Amino acid sequence: MGLEEIKARVREAGGPELLDRLERLDAERVRPPVEAPCVRAIGRGIRPDFDVVLAGGGLSLLFAPVLAGLGLKVGVFERGRAAVSHREWNISGSELAPLTQSGLFRPEEVESLIVARYERGICRWHGGGEYPVRGVLDHAIDAGLLLSESRLRAERRGVAFHDGHSLVGVGEGPEAVRLLFDRTGGGRSEVTARVLLDARGISSPHATADLLCPTVGGVLGGLKEGTAPDELDPRVGDILVTTEGVEDGRQHIWEGFPGRPGEATIYLFYYARARCIRQHALLQLYGRFFERLGRYKRGEPRLLRPTFGYIPGWSRLVPPPSAPGRRVVLVGDAAARHSPLTYCGFGAMMRSFLPGSMALAAALASNRFPLGSIVHDTPLHSVTGALALFMAEPPREPERRDEVNRLLDTAFAALHELGNEVYASLLKDQMSGPDFVRFLQHIAWMRPRVYRDALTLAGFGPLAVARWLGGLSRVLLPRPLSP
Ligand SMILES: Cc1cc2nc3c(=O)[nH]c(=O)nc-3n(C[C@H](O)[C@H](O)[C@H](O)COP(=O)(O)OP(=O)(O)OC[C@H]3O[C@@H](n4cnc5c(N)ncnc54)[C@H](O)[C@@H]3O)c2cc1C
Repeated sequence: MGLEEIKARVREAGGPELLDRLERLDAERVRPPVEAPCVRAIGRGIRPDFDVVLAGGGLSLLFAPVLAGLGLKVGVFERGRAAVSHREWNISGSELAPLTQSGLFRPEEVESLIVARYERGICRWHGGGEYPVRGVLDHAIDAGLLLSESRLRAERRGVAFHDGHSLVGVGEGPEAVRLLFDRTGGGRSEVTARVLLDARGISSPHATADLLCPTVGGVLGGLKEGTAPDELDPRVGDILVTTEGVEDGRQHIWEGFPGRPGEATIYLFYYARARCIRQHALLQLYGRFFERLGRYKRGEPRLLRPTFGYIPGWSRLVPPPSAPGRRVVLVGDAAARHSPLTYCGFGAMMRSFLPGSMALAAALASNRFPLGSIVHDTPLHSVTGALALFMAEPPREPERRDEVNRLLDTAFAALHELGNEVYASLLKDQMSGPDFVRFLQHIAWMRPRVYRDALTLAGFGPLAVARWLGGLSRVLLPRPLSP
């Protein structure tokens, strides 16, 4: 399918604005944004306009009402319109607890955000088996409603929203930062704040994570319902499914989550090294999505709402994305402290926005800078990152096209045999060190040459292996990761 045909299909389903957004995201990956260098730093003794400015009004805007509730003066500046979702989110029910713990939502309000629940999820590898799991990504959330309700709550707490403001430069002084914005429709404006939360997601110039997950798809209607693997079963979420081996140097993976009656969110994605992303990567992936969807699910599919994006991932085998100053803090995808294997940034945000807001408020109260990282991370990520790197560079030789599927099949068979609790804990970033070691031992027992195969596939050098072993020791002897 040619680029023009793909554009026409996305435009037809989502309108010209969505196509613009897709093309802008693709262009940004080829030429990543850079911060304007010459913003005057703010001197001492000037009262800043805000305590905290949040640049970016996507999922991270959850920080805004919590910070305002802690007595801080907060502004949200978004280049488009804040609290408009271009995603659909799945999560397990227990991970939603911070929405009520934070006092932002009552239990019945959280209930109204849930559009579907499933009995189980499955992972299925081409040529291998199907491995069911319970309690993972089994709730579909109305992302648009969550964000618009969060914005409403933030506004009620006095947060000022500035839509159509694109952050283009930061000048940091000893007591505050000066922020420069391009306004949609023309003109520039400046504000000052004690702290900048960089919530620009993958569009932040500081989002330097080494892995990327190009993801396309959206909400579809017209899929055939039933219990066969290529039919949509409203009781089952497809967490990870492959329908072929490696092609064009990529292992493509499907996800399929039933939503409102007759609808499902379907994604196609692959793991990649950030530096290897080619021009029009999302558009090309959409071409494949339209062409190959029939191999995954049958029916007369209609793309009701395209959703897509680049989700960053940090392998933990290279330096982390880090803030450029003492009063700048990365959150959300810009920080990329979520799992480099599952890319569940929504789940990670649920773990971060409440403790992160409290840590930020405490630092502001005691004037303690630099802040470092305020988002949740876990030692487990330092070992699963290597698996993601391995997925990002699968073998290209046609005769080896099924090797990734075979390795994944072994790994998931092992997880399944270890029981639901262990299986679910890996997918929810909650696996303990001893369980991880048990998992590795079980894989080796099932397929003795698995580690030699994995190392050959991934082509890791001694340095990466040493870093990975360092990560493993952190899993076994947990202590906080340095920011
Ligand atoms: C298709 C897709 C499906 C996903 N599904 C799931 C899921 O099911 N479960 C899960 O856990 N995670 C999921 N994720 C991941 C999750 O959506 C992200 O981790 C999360 O949205 C990150 O939040 P964020 O606030 O950091 O960034 P975003 O939500 O991307 O928000 C960034 C905001 O910054 C704005 N911005 C950019 N540049 C500027 C600028 N210069 N000035 C001002 N504003 C700017 C953007 O317009 C945007 O609104 C999915 C991601 C994608 C792409």
